[in-house]
Amino acid sequence: MLFPTHLVAAAGLGRLVANQPRETDIAVKGRSWPALSTGWLVLGAALPDLLDKPLGLLEVTTLFHSIGHSVLLLPAVILLAVRGKRGVAIAIGWASHLMLDAVHVVINGRPSDALFLGWPVVVPPTPPAIPPGEFVWFYLGTPSSYVEVVLWVAVGALVVRSLRTSRDAGEGA
Ligand SMILES: [Zn+2]
Repeated sequence: MLFPTHLVAAAGLGRLVANQPRETDIAVKGRSWPALSTGWLVLGAALPDLLDKPLGLLEVTTLFHSIGHSVLLLPAVILLAVRGKRGVAIAIGWASHLMLDAVHVVINGRPSDALFLGWPVVVPPTPPAIPPGEFVWFYLGTPSSYVEVVLWVAVGALVVRSLRTSRDAGEGA
């Protein structure tokens, strides 16, 4: 997916978690989700492209999805997550980026491109290998680009709802 969409999705995730009333936090095995910082979620979601696009552009790697988009990074991400809430937010943001990129290639009928997740052990057999700027024109109008539009609208609706909720709470106080 496009870089800004990863940031918007992570911000939406942050908003979604922030909107959980404390007394009804999503409980998992008796524990509740910690409130996660939107900033760290967004940073985590930015990381794969911040790492891999320059590597690809500088021709250090032949693909634009490499180390930052690989599950090979998982042990490091887990180590980060166990250090605290910031690490958890970065890890979730990072994972959301990988998931959305995998969903994008599957929706666009190139499921084998999702093999980027296994870089460098496995790599996509016929990756598009289009530089990030050019990629936008290649990508617009594909089914996945419409999914991105839906995502932006959903996050926009979430932000409007939470602004209204906090305004109403302010009026009620
Ligand atoms: Zn990506």
